[in-house]
Amino acid sequence: MKPSTFEQTQIQAQTFQANTKKPELDWVNITFLTSTPVIATILSYFYFKTNGLQWSQIVLAVIFYFATGIAITAGYHRLISHKAYKANPLVKFLFLLFGAAAFQNSALKWCADHRVHHRHVDDEKDPYNINKGFFWAHMGWIFYKDQQTETSHYPKDLLNDKLVMWQHRNYLWIAVAMGFVLPTVIGYFLGSALGGLALAGVARVVFVHHCTFFINSLCHVVGSRPYTDTNTARDSYIMAFFSYGEGYHNYHHYFPSDYRNGIRWYHFDPTKWLIKSLSLIGLTNDLKKVPEKLIVQAQVQMKQKLV
Ligand SMILES: [Zn+2]
Ligand SMILES: [Zn+2]
Repeated sequence: MKPSTFEQTQIQAQTFQANTKKPELDWVNITFLTSTPVIATILSYFYFKTNGLQWSQIVLAVIFYFATGIAITAGYHRLISHKAYKANPLVKFLFLLFGAAAFQNSALKWCADHRVHHRHVDDEKDPYNINKGFFWAHMGWIFYKDQQTETSHYPKDLLNDKLVMWQHRNYLWIAVAMGFVLPTVIGYFLGSALGGLALAGVARVVFVHHCTFFINSLCHVVGSRPYTDTNTARDSYIMAFFSYGEGYHNYHHYFPSDYRNGIRWYHFDPTKWLIKSLSLIGLTNDLKKVPEKLIVQAQVQMKQKLV
């Protein structure tokens, strides 16, 4: 039996309501993202006041800054999201441990969001759509509860990945152990547990957060578009410096499966250098590179379009 006009209107109204459901604020994320800069400042103040400047603590913080940031760019991003190369399980495991310490959610969730970003860049379905404003793309989107947390929405290849799923199930304790406990313990052996927690722990989380958030905000605003102007992603040397080499974002959106973002040897891309170096000792392989001919073709087409 066909539904009556009244019933049809009701169904339409319910569907409309479901589609326009206001996203719910995520207070855990909001509290974490707004309190960590304050806690980092307070702890650092007390550390410097009681211990002065110890270079060993600064070096430890820099090492954690690179280890956790590159675990996101080389691990979460180029290896797991884009499958731009293959890695030895030990390397992947380390990426998942240090990636969790960056406090950007599990690889499963991060990569699912990122693939949607590529598929729907700049449109309504893009989780960090730059057209919704700079702040939204940078971190505003994290302030809201996710719309697609249901397991059915996660990509199948990731759901079948045992290491990725193990990290997803144990994300919280891995993140706390690797992100806060480990730097505190190393800091203790270097002369100050507080120094390790303040600098390599909390302050480092804040720095890594914003450097990687820049990829979704500034990398869609600042720079040039040598390969395509069909989306907002841009190439910028300056952004590459602050984002472990991910600033060549116009190239990356056009050729997402390339293990490089900075394609020239002089392009600042420490993520690419790490992946390439690991391949020399057999820890990574099958590094995908877009043929030079296609790259030049895209550049020429773009130039002609601008004439
Ligand atoms: Zn992007
Ligand atoms: Zn990507």
